[in-house]
Amino acid sequence: MKSTNTAIPLEKLLEQLPDIYSVADRELVQHAYRVAEEAHREQKRLSGEPYINHCVSVASILAELKVPPEVIAAGLLHDTVEDTSVTLTDIRRDFGDAITALVDGVTKLTHLPHVSRGDQHADSDAVKQEDEEPPSAPALLGRKDEIVAETLRKTFLAMGKDVRVMFIKLADRLHNMRTLSHMPEHKRKRIAQETLDIFSPVANRLGIWQIKWELEDLAFRNVNPVEYKKIAELLTEKRPDRESQLEVIKENLIKLLEQNNIKAEISGRPKHIYSIFKKMQKKDKPFDMVWDVRAVRLIVPDVPSCYAALGLIHTSWRPIKDEFDDYIAAPKDNYYQSLHTAVIYKDKRPLEVQIRTHEMHLNAEFGIAAHWRYKEGSKQADKNYEQQINSLRSMMEWGPDVRDATEFVESMHTDVFQDHVYIFTPRGDAIDLPSGATPIDFAYHVHTDIGHRCRGARINGKLVPLDQALNTGDQVEILTAKRGGPSLDWLNPNLGLVKTQRARSKIKVWFKKQEDEQNLAQGRSGLEKELQRLGLKDINFEKLAHDLNYKTPDEMFIELGNGDLSFSKIIRQFSQPEESPDIFEVNPSSTPATSTNSIEVVGLKGMLSAMARCCNPTAGDQVVGFITRGRGVTIHRQDCPNILQTKERERLLQVGWGHVERTYPVPVKIKAYDRQGLVSDISNLLSDENINIADVKVNVNRSIADLRLIIEVKDITQLSRILTRIENLPNVMEAHRSSPG
Ligand code: MN
Repeated sequence: MKSTNTAIPLEKLLEQLPDIYSVADRELVQHAYRVAEEAHREQKRLSGEPYINHCVSVASILAELKVPPEVIAAGLLHDTVEDTSVTLTDIRRDFGDAITALVDGVTKLTHLPHVSRGDQHADSDAVKQEDEEPPSAPALLGRKDEIVAETLRKTFLAMGKDVRVMFIKLADRLHNMRTLSHMPEHKRKRIAQETLDIFSPVANRLGIWQIKWELEDLAFRNVNPVEYKKIAELLTEKRPDRESQLEVIKENLIKLLEQNNIKAEISGRPKHIYSIFKKMQKKDKPFDMVWDVRAVRLIVPDVPSCYAALGLIHTSWRPIKDEFDDYIAAPKDNYYQSLHTAVIYKDKRPLEVQIRTHEMHLNAEFGIAAHWRYKEGSKQADKNYEQQINSLRSMMEWGPDVRDATEFVESMHTDVFQDHVYIFTPRGDAIDLPSGATPIDFAYHVHTDIGHRCRGARINGKLVPLDQALNTGDQVEILTAKRGGPSLDWLNPNLGLVKTQRARSKIKVWFKKQEDEQNLAQGRSGLEKELQRLGLKDINFEKLAHDLNYKTPDEMFIELGNGDLSFSKIIRQFSQPEESPDIFEVNPSSTPATSTNSIEVVGLKGMLSAMARCCNPTAGDQVVGFITRGRGVTIHRQDCPNILQTKERERLLQVGWGHVERTYPVPVKIKAYDRQGLVSDISNLLSDENINIADVKVNVNRSIADLRLIIEVKDITQLSRILTRIENLPNVMEAHRSSPG
């Protein structure tokens, strides 16, 4: 900071005064300057400057906020009563009650515990003040947060009826922070910390971003010089690259908006060092990740344009999940309004976008002080100001953290957002939903599980039907069952119980899951039953599922259960050559295949064939096929007299024995209510399948027949099929493979 021993000329301050000031207003400021200059004439700042420069600087900061003239006058006089021989009586005589009240307010604020002045007097008074350190630092540590909160509350209380006192105090603190380098180091840290603890929260609460960010950066520089320097250097290093990128992005955005008839001013958004630091801490990310984000701000003429621009940006680039905030519909506590979003820009890197109207922008930069920037007669501005003052009052009464919930909710009522309704949870969190949304939509929005278990709802304390449309400002409480799921009715569009796609898809997922669970159980038990019948044990389901191209056995069971996969396909899997020896834990029949299952009808593969009864051909005989009327092909020995004598030579088919297949003897147990012809039905069935019966034992007890057969089958598929066919015979209760021996 360059020091000067000369006073800042009054003319410079006069130039900075708002244009709307009248001649009388300007005279008031000049008058205050003269009184202050005279009162402080012998005092110097630590920098060696005349003390009046501090007063003028404070007044300049206030002029930037375009506060009324009496505030600037009080700003010039703010240290007179505290530090000079000038008294409140003198002030009252010269300037009247209003300005006196302001000066008195600032003086009283200075005496709050731990709200140090941070003033830079070079005189003995200042030295004396240095001795008034806080009682003992260690004793304060544990209660620090408490003290900060209490000081904040008292600060607001002291601000009393007039928020303008706080503007003066903030301007005072800002200038002291700008010139902090002249202070000894231990004082710097304390004042800087206090600035972060008390003054920047106050600036934030008043919505004065301009003052808040500068206080924070100046304070952070002193509280944590190492981190400050690191971030500042990285910022400087990357600035050229960042700025050229931003230029291109801005041009593209302007083009895009113009093509869609949206008028917008676009600016790159300055990033402040302390906010980068806090973001790095909060998100636990290194500098690159935080800084890598390019940020632009769009200022558009009106609220519909805000949303139009947002929609355009979201359709041009992919929005980043959870980065969208609608502070227009749900303003922050300090009445800040804006749309915030972040998208993946076409270079695949994030771009932060803020969208707001001119009015919102003024509010964002100047907060409660924006009131004075509007032309006279803006009823809305007056109303906003009143509202903010009221909100500050209630805050003062209840402490800094209690909000007036009713007022907040009321401020949310607005016709602008017909497409959305803003609903409150019992805890007061706002949730936005498409208009027409129901309590069930709300429940699913809060939590999927709350949606599933939703059984009723209270809106603003009253029980309502679940198809009731929600309105902005409703406070909704969901009544849930301990367990259970959604009703199928919820998916019926005619009942209008669910409006949002989000809830709908969650309900569908639930039902799909239930269905899957049911199918899984059915598939698994069905397969287990079949395997048991076939006497197959210790089946590796993992391998089986894998062989059938399922990721997990569960998937396989689900498809079995819903019929997409047949049992026979699974059973066939066991008939694969490499499976068979394991499956039949016995040796193949010692006498290989004398059965006739290996006939191949040349040219008509798979055609129904049967052995002719006249000549009973056996494997190895020279054979010929005869096409019957309706019974397929019968196989005769070539020397069968019937063949030799037939005139219908065109019906003869050349056939030959296929390759000889191995068969396996399998013991089978059949239980049935005994009836006539049961055994012959079974043996006919087996001979139809060309299965040889190696052994039969029949035992009938109290009209229950117990048959034990040993049949020679070539694979599990055949066994499965034959057992099923036997079970389908009249009176048969069950047919299954029995353990060998
Ligand atoms: Mn001061």
